[in-house]
Amino acid sequence: MDLVKLWIIAGFREFETSKRQLETITKKGIEFINEEAVKIDLENKIVRTNYRRLHYDYLIIALGVELAPEQIPGLKENSLVLYDLNDVPKIRDAIRHIKAGKISMAITGLPYKCPPAPYEAALLIRSVLEETGTSNSIQMDFYSPTPITLPAGGPKVSEEILQILKSKNIEFHGNHKTISVEQNKLKFESGEADFDLLITVPPHKAPFVAVDCGLAQPGKFIEVNRDCKTKFENVYAIGDVNQIMVTDKIAVPKAGIFAESEGITVARNIISKIKKEQGVATFDGKGGCFLETGKKTAGYIRVDMYATPSPVTELDAPSSDYFSEKEKFEKERLEKWL
Ligand SMILES: Cc1cc2nc3c(=O)[nH]c(=O)nc-3n(C[C@H](O)[C@H](O)[C@H](O)COP(=O)(O)OP(=O)(O)OC[C@H]3O[C@@H](n4cnc5c(N)ncnc54)[C@H](O)[C@@H]3O)c2cc1C
Repeated sequence: MDLVKLWIIAGFREFETSKRQLETITKKGIEFINEEAVKIDLENKIVRTNYRRLHYDYLIIALGVELAPEQIPGLKENSLVLYDLNDVPKIRDAIRHIKAGKISMAITGLPYKCPPAPYEAALLIRSVLEETGTSNSIQMDFYSPTPITLPAGGPKVSEEILQILKSKNIEFHGNHKTISVEQNKLKFESGEADFDLLITVPPHKAPFVAVDCGLAQPGKFIEVNRDCKTKFENVYAIGDVNQIMVTDKIAVPKAGIFAESEGITVARNIISKIKKEQGVATFDGKGGCFLETGKKTAGYIRVDMYATPSPVTELDAPSSDYFSEKEKFEKERLEKWL
């Protein structure tokens, strides 16, 4: 669903036609219980909802992240939140109504989901402005707390993304840590900037239920290694809710493609435990994601987190073929899993 948010902003999609019923997983012999997990009792191996207690032998935590706009004073009141589904149609409409002035985007917390996504959003917004004929009257600024665009991708890919942004007149301002937002004003640790429309990526946090049971330390995500096992027996954590450190500074980015391979890793580990087989499957850290650049074009970011001696990331130049590949990627995933 997250991926579709960008297409709603670009005007290619509607939310209603992009939804899928999760109940379809019952076809695979999986019972779907559409209730909030309110408590995880690791000692007694029970997950509680408001209506029932579910006993488990193996538990896979795949709760994703919670957005935490409240961590930046004024953010919710004075910006539209790119990752909040309620704000996405507002962004789609606002960029079509603004005729002149300054659109700013700000990443306000680290880590955040899908590191390239805010840049894709900026490029898609520029593309919409070009279509509506307002592009020449609108300045676009992009603020990030990181010194380069995509630290997880390294300096080369970051520079390539910077050049793509520049070619679309989007100015990147690195090392800008947002501390608060006021009406038409962003405040950074050092300095401030005006805007007419602000679009933000808010800080993220682990869902309360994961912190409450001790799986995640307050202010952190669930720390696991490449086998995705937590420190609790038969409890695993996959996807955005976890944190897998690759080096002492670089973590596996929060991306659907990695959530998927971590899920497969855990499935293998549970099956081999049930079958009492030897050996442990480990997450391979290989994947890729598309970088949409507007006008139905996309680049492709290829990632190998465990390449030696250090992670490797490469960016293939944008083309309409990669945009078609992205559409195919969505279709294949929906067919495979739902
Ligand atoms: C704009 C955007 C574009 C993106 N594009 C890409 C892309 O092109 N490629 C890519 O690989 N990744 C992309 N991502 C990242 C990707 O969407 C996430 O990394 C991925 O969805 C993570 O999967 P997950 O299962 O860990 O979490 P989620 O998909 O967030 O799923 C977690 C689920 O748990 C539920 N939940 C939470 N708490 C509870 C509770 N207490 N009880 C019951 N249920 C609960 C949530 O409602 C949610 O349904 C994008 C993200 C964004 C924001």
